[in-house]
Amino acid sequence: MDCIFCKIINKEIPSNIVYEDEEILAFKDIAPQAPIHIVVIPKKHIGKITQIQKEDEALIGKIYSVINQIAKEQGIAEEGFRVIINCGENGGQEVKHIHFHLLGGTKLSGKIV
Ligand code: AMP
Ligand code: ZN
Repeated sequence: MDCIFCKIINKEIPSNIVYEDEEILAFKDIAPQAPIHIVVIPKKHIGKITQIQKEDEALIGKIYSVINQIAKEQGIAEEGFRVIINCGENGGQEVKHIHFHLLGGTKLSGKIV
């Protein structure tokens, strides 16, 4: 499959990994939008939010636990951070493998909700 994030999972493309287990991978975003910008992904190829299946519920929930752990390790848990998932064309999703942006390390602007 021609998926850049699957290639990162398979170590065909190098990345700066900050967390890895059998189900989840997290790595530094190549074009950071904040002092700390980490991409968290399931190793299972799920295209986008609308392709989450019932069987993925535990996996998606676990991603938030992993985000908590990474936020603590990166020293941004106390000050706060933002988690963003872009979905589809209008959501501005460019990589078609579901991913959670973890952004922090500064007071984030551009609050839209
Ligand atoms: P999105 O626009 O929500 O699809 O976000 C895709 C994100 O993946 C962007 O923030 C990109 O900078 C990031 N990205 C793309 N290719 C790589 C890569 N090889 N390594 C790390 N991050 C990447
Ligand atoms: Zn993929």
